[in-house]
Amino acid sequence: MAKADSPPARPTVTFWGAARTVTGSMHQVSAGGKLVLLDCGLFQGHRAESFHRNRDLPFRAKDVDAVILSHAHIDHCGNLPNLVRRGFAGPIYCTPATRALAAVMLGDAAKIQEEDAAYLNRSHGPDETVIQPLYDSRDVYRTLHRLQAVRYGAAVSVGHGLEARFTDAGHLLGSAMINLRIDAPAGERRLTFTGDLGRPGLPILRPPEPVPECDLLISECTYGGHVHEPVDETAEQLGAVVRRTADRGGKVIIPAFAVGRTQTVVYFLHQLITTGKLPDIPVYVDSPMATRATEVFRAHPECFNEETLALLARDADLFGTRHVRYVESVHESVELNRLAEPCVIIAASGMCESGRVLHHLKHNLPDPRNTVLIAGYQAADTLGRRLVEGRKEVRVLGRVCPVKAEVVVLNGLSSHADHKDLLRMLGPLAGRTSRARLVHGEPDRAAALAAGLQGAGFADVGIPDRGETTDV
Ligand SMILES: [Zn+2]
Repeated sequence: MAKADSPPARPTVTFWGAARTVTGSMHQVSAGGKLVLLDCGLFQGHRAESFHRNRDLPFRAKDVDAVILSHAHIDHCGNLPNLVRRGFAGPIYCTPATRALAAVMLGDAAKIQEEDAAYLNRSHGPDETVIQPLYDSRDVYRTLHRLQAVRYGAAVSVGHGLEARFTDAGHLLGSAMINLRIDAPAGERRLTFTGDLGRPGLPILRPPEPVPECDLLISECTYGGHVHEPVDETAEQLGAVVRRTADRGGKVIIPAFAVGRTQTVVYFLHQLITTGKLPDIPVYVDSPMATRATEVFRAHPECFNEETLALLARDADLFGTRHVRYVESVHESVELNRLAEPCVIIAASGMCESGRVLHHLKHNLPDPRNTVLIAGYQAADTLGRRLVEGRKEVRVLGRVCPVKAEVVVLNGLSSHADHKDLLRMLGPLAGRTSRARLVHGEPDRAAALAAGLQGAGFADVGIPDRGETTDV
Protein backbone atom coordinates (compact mmCIF):
# COMPACT_ATOMS: atom_id res chain seq x y z
CA MET A 1 0.00 0.00 0.00
CA ALA A 2 1.25 3.47 -0.82
CA LYS A 3 2.36 5.56 2.14
CA ALA A 4 -0.23 8.24 1.38
CA ASP A 5 -2.98 5.66 1.93
CA SER A 6 -1.76 4.57 5.37
CA PRO A 7 -4.05 5.71 8.19
CA PRO A 8 -2.94 8.81 10.11
CA ALA A 9 -1.13 8.02 13.33
CA ARG A 10 -2.93 8.23 16.67
CA PRO A 11 -2.32 11.55 18.47
CA THR A 12 0.36 11.34 21.14
CA VAL A 13 2.06 13.50 23.77
CA THR A 14 5.74 13.29 24.66
CA PHE A 15 6.89 14.86 27.93
CA TRP A 16 10.17 16.72 27.39
CA GLY A 17 10.29 18.90 30.47
CA ALA A 18 8.84 19.41 33.95
CA ALA A 19 8.84 15.59 34.11
CA ARG A 20 9.36 14.67 37.78
CA THR A 21 10.63 18.20 38.39
CA VAL A 22 9.19 21.74 38.55
CA THR A 23 11.21 23.34 35.79
CA GLY A 24 11.51 23.41 31.98
CA SER A 25 7.83 22.86 31.09
CA MET A 26 7.60 21.46 27.53
CA HIS A 27 5.32 18.81 26.05
CA GLN A 28 5.16 17.73 22.42
CA VAL A 29 1.79 16.91 20.86
CA SER A 30 1.93 14.98 17.58
CA ALA A 31 -1.41 14.91 15.81
CA GLY A 32 -2.61 14.91 12.20
CA GLY A 33 0.96 15.23 10.91
CA LYS A 34 1.54 18.36 13.00
CA LEU A 35 4.02 18.85 15.82
CA VAL A 36 2.80 21.31 18.45
CA LEU A 37 4.56 22.26 21.70
CA LEU A 38 2.69 23.03 24.89
CA ASP A 39 5.06 25.54 26.56
CA CYS A 40 8.77 25.91 25.85
CA GLY A 41 10.19 26.74 29.26
CA LEU A 42 13.66 27.18 30.60
CA PHE A 43 15.17 24.31 32.57
CA GLN A 44 16.78 25.81 35.69
CA GLY A 45 19.37 23.98 37.75
CA HIS A 46 23.15 23.84 37.94
CA ARG A 47 24.51 26.27 35.37
CA ALA A 48 26.45 24.01 32.96
CA GLU A 49 23.84 21.20 33.01
CA SER A 50 21.04 23.70 32.42
CA PHE A 51 22.86 25.35 29.55
CA HIS A 52 23.24 22.11 27.57
CA ARG A 53 19.80 20.82 28.47
CA ASN A 54 18.18 24.03 27.22
CA ARG A 55 20.31 24.40 24.11
CA ASP A 56 20.08 20.82 22.80
CA LEU A 57 16.42 20.38 21.88
CA PRO A 58 15.16 16.77 21.53
CA PHE A 59 13.61 17.56 18.10
CA ARG A 60 14.43 19.81 15.17
CA ALA A 61 13.16 23.31 15.87
CA LYS A 62 12.05 23.79 12.27
CA ASP A 63 9.87 20.66 12.47
CA VAL A 64 7.70 22.35 15.14
CA ASP A 65 4.54 23.79 13.56
CA ALA A 66 3.27 25.89 16.49
CA VAL A 67 3.67 26.55 20.20
CA ILE A 68 0.81 27.08 22.65
CA LEU A 69 1.94 28.92 25.76
CA SER A 70 0.18 28.56 29.14
CA HIS A 71 1.70 31.60 30.88
CA ALA A 72 4.66 33.94 31.09
CA HIS A 73 6.67 32.45 33.96
CA ILE A 74 10.20 31.77 32.72
CA ASP A 75 10.03 28.00 33.34
CA HIS A 76 7.16 27.95 30.80
CA CYS A 77 8.23 30.49 28.14
CA GLY A 78 11.96 31.01 28.74
CA ASN A 79 13.33 28.71 26.01
CA LEU A 80 11.19 30.16 23.18
CA PRO A 81 13.95 32.48 21.92
CA ASN A 82 16.29 29.48 21.64
CA LEU A 83 13.62 27.60 19.65
CA VAL A 84 13.36 30.59 17.29
CA ARG A 85 17.17 30.93 17.08
CA ARG A 86 17.32 27.27 16.00
CA GLY A 87 14.84 27.66 13.16
CA PHE A 88 11.29 27.60 14.52
CA ALA A 89 9.18 29.81 12.22
CA GLY A 90 5.61 29.14 13.33
CA PRO A 91 3.11 30.99 15.49
CA ILE A 92 3.18 31.06 19.31
CA TYR A 93 -0.35 31.32 20.71
CA CYS A 94 -1.00 32.85 24.13
CA THR A 95 -3.41 35.23 25.86
CA PRO A 96 -2.98 39.01 25.40
CA ALA A 97 -1.66 39.53 28.95
CA THR A 98 0.79 36.64 28.56
CA ARG A 99 2.11 38.23 25.38
CA ALA A 100 2.78 41.50 27.22
CA LEU A 101 4.33 39.84 30.29
CA ALA A 102 6.48 37.52 28.16
CA ALA A 103 8.08 40.58 26.57
CA VAL A 104 9.19 41.73 30.05
CA MET A 105 10.36 38.26 31.12
CA LEU A 106 12.28 37.37 27.95
CA GLY A 107 14.02 40.74 27.69
CA ASP A 108 15.44 40.17 31.17
CA ALA A 109 16.24 36.52 30.42
CA ALA A 110 18.37 37.45 27.39
CA LYS A 111 20.64 39.52 29.66
CA ILE A 112 21.01 36.58 32.07
CA GLN A 113 21.82 34.22 29.16
CA GLU A 114 24.58 36.53 27.98
CA GLU A 115 26.04 36.66 31.52
CA ASP A 116 25.84 32.86 31.88
CA ALA A 117 27.72 32.30 28.59
CA ALA A 118 30.41 34.75 29.73
CA TYR A 119 30.74 32.79 33.00
CA LEU A 120 31.07 29.45 31.20
CA ASN A 121 33.69 30.89 28.83
CA ARG A 122 35.75 32.21 31.79
CA SER A 123 35.77 28.75 33.40
CA HIS A 124 36.84 27.09 30.10
CA GLY A 125 40.31 26.05 29.01
CA PRO A 126 41.92 28.15 26.21
CA ASP A 127 41.49 25.35 23.60
CA GLU A 128 37.77 24.94 24.02
CA THR A 129 35.33 26.56 21.65
CA VAL A 130 33.68 29.75 22.80
CA ILE A 131 30.17 29.20 24.12
CA GLN A 132 27.52 31.47 22.62
CA PRO A 133 24.65 32.64 24.81
CA LEU A 134 21.57 30.41 24.63
CA TYR A 135 19.94 33.44 23.03
CA ASP A 136 20.30 37.19 22.90
CA SER A 137 18.03 40.21 22.66
CA ARG A 138 17.73 39.88 18.86
CA ASP A 139 16.33 36.36 19.28
CA VAL A 140 13.90 37.72 21.86
CA TYR A 141 12.80 40.42 19.42
CA ARG A 142 12.15 37.81 16.71
CA THR A 143 10.28 35.64 19.24
CA LEU A 144 7.98 38.45 20.34
CA HIS A 145 6.94 38.90 16.69
CA ARG A 146 5.70 35.30 16.67
CA LEU A 147 3.38 35.73 19.68
CA GLN A 148 -0.28 35.74 18.64
CA ALA A 149 -2.80 36.82 21.25
CA VAL A 150 -5.95 34.72 21.67
CA ARG A 151 -8.64 35.65 24.20
CA TYR A 152 -9.86 33.25 26.89
CA GLY A 153 -12.60 31.04 25.47
CA ALA A 154 -11.93 31.78 21.78
CA ALA A 155 -11.12 28.79 19.57
CA VAL A 156 -7.99 28.98 17.44
CA SER A 157 -7.12 26.56 14.64
CA VAL A 158 -3.59 25.30 15.18
CA GLY A 159 -3.65 23.06 12.09
CA HIS A 160 -6.06 20.92 10.13
CA GLY A 161 -8.28 19.13 12.66
CA LEU A 162 -6.49 20.68 15.63
CA GLU A 163 -8.16 23.40 17.67
CA ALA A 164 -7.01 25.07 20.90
CA ARG A 165 -8.84 27.11 23.55
CA PHE A 166 -7.56 28.96 26.61
CA THR A 167 -9.31 28.81 30.00
CA ASP A 168 -8.35 31.11 32.91
CA ALA A 169 -5.99 29.24 35.26
CA GLY A 170 -5.96 31.98 37.94
CA HIS A 171 -2.21 31.62 38.60
CA LEU A 172 -0.62 34.73 37.03
CA LEU A 173 -1.94 37.59 34.94
CA GLY A 174 -2.92 35.98 31.60
CA SER A 175 -2.30 32.41 32.79
CA ALA A 176 -4.28 29.73 30.99
CA MET A 177 -5.14 26.09 30.83
CA ILE A 178 -4.92 24.75 27.28
CA ASN A 179 -7.69 22.57 25.87
CA LEU A 180 -6.91 20.83 22.56
CA ARG A 181 -9.56 19.25 20.34
CA ILE A 182 -8.04 16.79 17.91
CA ASP A 183 -9.76 15.09 14.94
CA ALA A 184 -8.21 11.63 15.30
CA PRO A 185 -8.71 8.50 13.13
CA ALA A 186 -10.93 6.91 15.80
CA GLY A 187 -12.94 10.11 16.40
CA GLU A 188 -12.47 13.34 18.31
CA ARG A 189 -9.97 13.36 21.18
CA ARG A 190 -9.57 16.07 23.80
CA LEU A 191 -6.55 16.95 25.86
CA THR A 192 -6.38 19.45 28.73
CA PHE A 193 -3.05 20.79 29.95
CA THR A 194 -3.48 22.75 33.18
CA GLY A 195 -0.26 24.77 32.91
CA ASP A 196 0.18 26.11 36.46
CA LEU A 197 -3.06 26.27 38.43
CA GLY A 198 -3.87 29.12 40.79
CA ARG A 199 -5.98 29.11 43.92
CA PRO A 200 -9.08 30.92 45.11
CA GLY A 201 -8.61 34.09 47.17
CA LEU A 202 -5.52 35.42 45.39
CA PRO A 203 -5.65 39.18 45.01
CA ILE A 204 -6.17 40.73 41.54
CA LEU A 205 -6.73 37.42 39.72
CA ARG A 206 -9.96 35.54 39.16
CA PRO A 207 -10.13 32.06 40.66
CA PRO A 208 -9.35 29.28 38.19
CA GLU A 209 -12.24 28.39 35.86
CA PRO A 210 -13.49 24.78 35.83
CA VAL A 211 -10.95 22.45 34.23
CA PRO A 212 -12.19 21.58 30.70
CA GLU A 213 -13.34 18.01 30.15
CA CYS A 214 -10.97 15.81 28.20
CA ASP A 215 -9.81 12.28 27.37
CA LEU A 216 -6.31 12.92 28.70
CA LEU A 217 -5.52 15.34 31.53
CA ILE A 218 -1.99 16.69 31.97
CA SER A 219 -1.88 18.43 35.33
CA GLU A 220 0.68 20.25 37.39
CA CYS A 221 1.27 18.88 40.91
CA THR A 222 3.73 21.40 42.46
CA TYR A 223 2.08 21.26 45.89
CA GLY A 224 0.71 17.70 45.87
CA GLY A 225 0.38 16.59 49.52
CA HIS A 226 0.80 20.14 50.89
CA VAL A 227 -1.86 22.54 52.19
CA HIS A 228 -1.24 26.34 52.13
CA GLU A 229 -2.31 28.85 54.75
CA PRO A 230 -5.34 30.91 53.60
CA VAL A 231 -4.51 34.02 51.56
CA ASP A 232 -6.51 36.48 53.72
CA GLU A 233 -4.79 35.34 56.93
CA THR A 234 -1.46 35.88 55.21
CA ALA A 235 -2.41 39.48 54.35
CA GLU A 236 -3.18 40.11 58.04
CA GLN A 237 0.18 38.59 59.03
CA LEU A 238 1.93 40.79 56.47
CA GLY A 239 0.33 43.85 58.07
CA ALA A 240 1.32 42.73 61.58
CA VAL A 241 4.97 42.21 60.55
CA VAL A 242 5.21 45.64 58.94
CA ARG A 243 3.54 47.30 61.95
CA ARG A 244 5.82 45.81 64.58
CA THR A 245 8.94 46.53 62.51
CA ALA A 246 7.89 50.16 62.00
CA ASP A 247 7.12 50.44 65.75
CA ARG A 248 10.72 49.57 66.59
CA GLY A 249 12.03 51.95 63.91
CA GLY A 250 13.15 49.27 61.47
CA LYS A 251 12.85 48.48 57.76
CA VAL A 252 11.16 45.48 56.16
CA ILE A 253 13.09 43.89 53.32
CA ILE A 254 11.01 41.61 51.08
CA PRO A 255 12.90 39.54 48.49
CA ALA A 256 10.38 38.87 45.72
CA PHE A 257 10.21 37.71 42.14
CA ALA A 258 9.50 40.70 39.93
CA VAL A 259 6.48 39.28 38.16
CA GLY A 260 3.51 38.10 40.20
CA ARG A 261 4.66 38.09 43.81
CA THR A 262 5.75 41.76 43.84
CA GLN A 263 2.34 42.90 42.54
CA THR A 264 0.56 40.72 45.15
CA VAL A 265 2.56 42.21 48.03
CA VAL A 266 2.16 45.79 46.72
CA TYR A 267 -1.59 45.27 46.32
CA PHE A 268 -1.94 44.03 49.91
CA LEU A 269 0.20 46.82 51.38
CA HIS A 270 -1.73 49.45 49.41
CA GLN A 271 -5.05 48.02 50.71
CA LEU A 272 -3.77 47.85 54.31
CA ILE A 273 -2.63 51.49 54.15
CA THR A 274 -5.77 52.87 52.44
CA THR A 275 -8.06 51.06 54.93
CA GLY A 276 -6.07 52.46 57.86
CA LYS A 277 -4.80 49.05 59.03
CA LEU A 278 -1.23 50.19 58.44
CA PRO A 279 0.29 53.63 59.01
CA ASP A 280 1.27 55.46 55.83
CA ILE A 281 4.75 53.98 55.63
CA PRO A 282 6.79 54.41 52.43
CA VAL A 283 6.98 51.30 50.20
CA TYR A 284 9.76 51.02 47.62
CA VAL A 285 9.71 48.59 44.71
CA ASP A 286 13.39 48.43 43.85
CA SER A 287 13.35 46.55 40.53
CA PRO A 288 13.03 48.02 37.04
CA MET A 289 11.65 44.69 35.83
CA ALA A 290 8.96 44.70 38.54
CA THR A 291 8.06 48.24 37.51
CA ARG A 292 7.58 47.18 33.88
CA ALA A 293 5.60 44.11 34.96
CA THR A 294 3.34 46.30 37.11
CA GLU A 295 2.65 48.47 34.04
CA VAL A 296 1.53 45.31 32.22
CA PHE A 297 -0.79 44.49 35.13
CA ARG A 298 -2.29 47.99 34.94
CA ALA A 299 -2.89 47.57 31.20
CA HIS A 300 -4.84 44.30 31.52
CA PRO A 301 -7.90 44.82 33.73
CA GLU A 302 -9.71 42.21 31.60
CA CYS A 303 -7.88 39.64 33.77
CA PHE A 304 -8.93 41.15 37.14
CA ASN A 305 -11.39 39.62 39.59
CA GLU A 306 -14.62 41.44 40.54
CA GLU A 307 -13.26 42.78 43.83
CA THR A 308 -10.29 44.32 42.07
CA LEU A 309 -12.50 45.82 39.33
CA ALA A 310 -14.76 47.33 42.02
CA LEU A 311 -11.71 48.80 43.76
CA LEU A 312 -10.44 50.09 40.45
CA ALA A 313 -13.75 51.90 39.87
CA ARG A 314 -13.28 53.76 43.19
CA ASP A 315 -9.51 54.14 43.13
CA ALA A 316 -7.56 54.13 39.86
CA ASP A 317 -4.35 53.89 41.88
CA LEU A 318 -4.54 50.13 42.38
CA PHE A 319 -0.80 49.59 42.65
CA GLY A 320 -0.47 52.57 44.90
CA THR A 321 1.73 55.27 43.38
CA ARG A 322 0.56 57.38 46.37
CA HIS A 323 2.29 55.05 48.83
CA VAL A 324 4.57 53.09 46.57
CA ARG A 325 7.68 54.43 44.91
CA TYR A 326 9.10 52.58 41.93
CA VAL A 327 12.87 52.84 42.01
CA GLU A 328 14.59 52.80 38.61
CA SER A 329 18.26 53.79 38.81
CA VAL A 330 21.05 52.01 40.70
CA HIS A 331 21.92 55.35 42.32
CA GLU A 332 18.40 55.67 43.74
CA SER A 333 18.57 52.06 44.91
CA VAL A 334 21.80 52.69 46.84
CA GLU A 335 20.31 55.90 48.29
CA LEU A 336 17.63 53.77 49.99
CA ASN A 337 20.34 52.56 52.37
CA ARG A 338 20.67 56.07 53.75
CA LEU A 339 17.02 56.30 54.79
CA ALA A 340 16.68 56.50 58.55
CA GLU A 341 12.89 56.11 58.86
CA PRO A 342 10.90 52.87 58.73
CA CYS A 343 9.97 51.67 55.24
CA VAL A 344 9.30 48.57 53.16
CA ILE A 345 11.71 47.62 50.37
CA ILE A 346 10.65 44.99 47.85
CA ALA A 347 13.50 43.86 45.61
CA ALA A 348 14.48 40.90 43.41
CA SER A 349 15.55 38.17 43.41
CA GLY A 350 13.00 36.10 45.28
CA MET A 351 15.56 33.56 46.55
CA CYS A 352 18.20 36.24 47.35
CA GLU A 353 20.61 34.79 44.81
CA SER A 354 21.20 37.94 42.78
CA GLY A 355 19.86 41.39 42.12
CA ARG A 356 19.38 44.52 44.18
CA VAL A 357 18.01 42.71 47.23
CA LEU A 358 21.59 41.66 48.04
CA HIS A 359 22.86 45.11 48.98
CA HIS A 360 19.71 45.75 51.00
CA LEU A 361 20.34 42.53 52.92
CA LYS A 362 23.98 43.41 53.46
CA HIS A 363 22.98 46.76 55.00
CA ASN A 364 19.96 45.65 56.98
CA LEU A 365 20.62 42.11 58.28
CA PRO A 366 22.96 43.28 61.10
CA ASP A 367 20.31 45.57 62.69
CA PRO A 368 17.83 43.87 65.09
CA ARG A 369 15.17 46.53 64.42
CA ASN A 370 14.80 45.30 60.81
CA THR A 371 12.85 42.38 59.35
CA VAL A 372 13.49 40.18 56.34
CA LEU A 373 10.17 38.85 55.12
CA ILE A 374 10.47 35.69 53.03
CA ALA A 375 7.30 35.26 50.98
CA GLY A 376 8.17 32.54 48.48
CA TYR A 377 9.64 29.09 47.98
CA GLN A 378 13.40 29.00 48.76
CA ALA A 379 15.34 26.29 46.94
CA ALA A 380 18.18 24.39 48.63
CA ASP A 381 21.61 26.09 48.62
CA THR A 382 20.24 29.62 48.20
CA LEU A 383 20.83 32.56 50.55
CA GLY A 384 17.06 32.72 51.07
CA ARG A 385 17.03 29.11 52.32
CA ARG A 386 19.91 29.84 54.73
CA LEU A 387 17.94 32.75 56.20
CA VAL A 388 14.85 30.52 56.56
CA GLU A 389 17.01 27.92 58.33
CA GLY A 390 17.88 30.54 60.95
CA ARG A 391 21.62 30.84 60.33
CA LYS A 392 23.29 33.39 62.61
CA GLU A 393 25.75 34.42 59.90
CA VAL A 394 25.46 34.39 56.12
CA ARG A 395 27.69 35.38 53.25
CA VAL A 396 26.33 38.31 51.21
CA LEU A 397 28.23 39.86 48.27
CA GLY A 398 31.42 38.13 49.38
CA ARG A 399 31.29 39.27 53.01
CA VAL A 400 30.23 37.49 56.19
CA CYS A 401 27.21 39.25 57.61
CA PRO A 402 25.63 38.69 61.06
CA VAL A 403 21.88 38.00 60.97
CA LYS A 404 20.42 40.15 63.77
CA ALA A 405 17.26 41.19 61.89
CA GLU A 406 14.04 39.27 62.49
CA VAL A 407 13.40 36.71 59.74
CA VAL A 408 9.73 35.97 59.04
CA VAL A 409 8.46 33.33 56.61
CA LEU A 410 5.00 33.80 55.07
CA ASN A 411 4.02 30.77 53.01
CA GLY A 412 0.43 31.75 52.29
CA LEU A 413 1.15 33.95 49.25
CA SER A 414 1.82 31.07 46.88
CA SER A 415 0.04 31.45 43.54
CA HIS A 416 -0.12 27.65 43.08
CA ALA A 417 -3.06 25.46 44.00
CA ASP A 418 -2.39 23.27 47.04
CA HIS A 419 -3.34 19.61 47.42
CA LYS A 420 -6.93 20.35 48.46
CA ASP A 421 -7.40 22.92 45.66
CA LEU A 422 -6.09 20.44 43.08
CA LEU A 423 -8.42 17.66 44.24
CA ARG A 424 -11.38 20.06 44.29
CA MET A 425 -10.64 21.24 40.73
CA LEU A 426 -9.61 17.93 39.16
CA GLY A 427 -11.85 15.55 41.12
CA PRO A 428 -15.05 16.37 39.16
CA LEU A 429 -13.36 15.17 35.95
CA ALA A 430 -13.01 11.60 37.25
CA GLY A 431 -15.19 9.19 35.32
CA ARG A 432 -15.39 11.33 32.19
CA THR A 433 -11.59 11.73 32.17
CA SER A 434 -10.13 8.44 33.22
CA ARG A 435 -6.50 9.17 32.36
CA ALA A 436 -4.25 11.73 34.02
CA ARG A 437 -0.53 12.40 33.71
CA LEU A 438 1.15 14.51 36.40
CA VAL A 439 3.95 16.93 35.58
CA HIS A 440 5.60 19.97 37.20
CA GLY A 441 6.24 18.45 40.62
CA GLU A 442 8.99 16.69 42.57
CA PRO A 443 8.40 12.90 42.64
CA ASP A 444 7.01 12.81 46.22
CA ARG A 445 4.59 15.67 45.46
CA ALA A 446 3.46 13.91 42.26
CA ALA A 447 2.98 10.62 44.14
CA ALA A 448 0.84 12.35 46.78
CA LEU A 449 -1.46 13.90 44.17
CA ALA A 450 -1.58 10.64 42.16
CA ALA A 451 -2.87 8.84 45.26
CA GLY A 452 -5.45 11.60 45.80
CA LEU A 453 -6.69 11.42 42.20
CA GLN A 454 -6.95 7.62 42.32
CA GLY A 455 -9.01 8.01 45.48
CA ALA A 456 -11.23 10.48 43.58
CA GLY A 457 -11.90 7.87 40.86
CA PHE A 458 -9.25 8.37 38.17
CA ALA A 459 -8.55 4.93 36.70
CA ASP A 460 -5.14 5.61 35.20
CA VAL A 461 -2.80 8.17 36.78
CA GLY A 462 0.83 8.26 35.66
CA ILE A 463 3.94 10.27 36.48
CA PRO A 464 5.87 10.30 33.19
CA ASP A 465 9.63 10.25 32.84
CA ARG A 466 11.34 12.69 30.53
CA GLY A 467 10.93 11.47 26.92
CA GLU A 468 7.97 9.20 27.71
CA THR A 469 5.15 9.17 25.15
CA THR A 470 1.47 8.45 25.72
CA ASP A 471 -1.63 8.33 23.48
CA VAL A 472 -4.09 11.19 23.78
ZN1 LIG B 1 3.90 29.60 36.93
